[in-house]
Amino acid sequence: MGKHLYVATTSAGKLADFRAAAEAFQVTIEPLPALRTIPAPAEDGATFEANAAIKATYYSRFAPGALVIADDSGLEVDVLAGAPGVRSARFAADTGMVDSPDANDNTDVWNNIVLLQSMAGVKPDDRTARYRCVLTAARDGVIVNMAEGAVEGIILEAPHGTGGFGYDPLFYVPSLDQTMADLDIEVKLSISHRGQACAALLEQIFGPLE
Ligand code: IMP
Repeated sequence: MGKHLYVATTSAGKLADFRAAAEAFQVTIEPLPALRTIPAPAEDGATFEANAAIKATYYSRFAPGALVIADDSGLEVDVLAGAPGVRSARFAADTGMVDSPDANDNTDVWNNIVLLQSMAGVKPDDRTARYRCVLTAARDGVIVNMAEGAVEGIILEAPHGTGGFGYDPLFYVPSLDQTMADLDIEVKLSISHRGQACAALLEQIFGPLE
């Protein structure tokens, strides 16, 4: 029988990342059936770990017997004391200036504007940041596995690149001299927080790659 997992995400960007990482393990990843019709749980944990656990345990109850994975991820900026952190998806909405998701799905654009404004005047050396991802697998409401990944970068003063999503155009990776939005998906996955977390989780569940 083929190796198969459900993922609880409606983000096309995250789904593409998970699928690309799972390919090496010959695992197929599908969105949880009817995910959009299931009311979302409150993501009110103070940490990525807590929110990933909330999502995986909650959504796994909608697919009895199946392994369901869910992630929580975001950007931690040192000069902002780790913000936006668990509020990454809602950074602009938290200011009260925009709805999230806004009617035209410009959430990423607004989030990037708020990030740049929050860091106005911060010198290049002080613009250090990281993406973090915690990925949890659960079955029938019980956590089975958990893994995490992180990637270090610098927040630019202007966006660059057209790929990726979220804060990628502002997230510069010094070792590659490119932003996350400049990278091919394979390269992004090989270094990204989500790629690392996904590979670590799949290794726990299915064993190491041969
Ligand atoms: P989540 O859906 O609660 O995990 O929110 C994650 C948010 O963090 C996203 O909406 C993005 O704003 C940001 N984020 C997480 N991972 C990435 C990434 O790989 N690229 C760009 N932004 C990311």
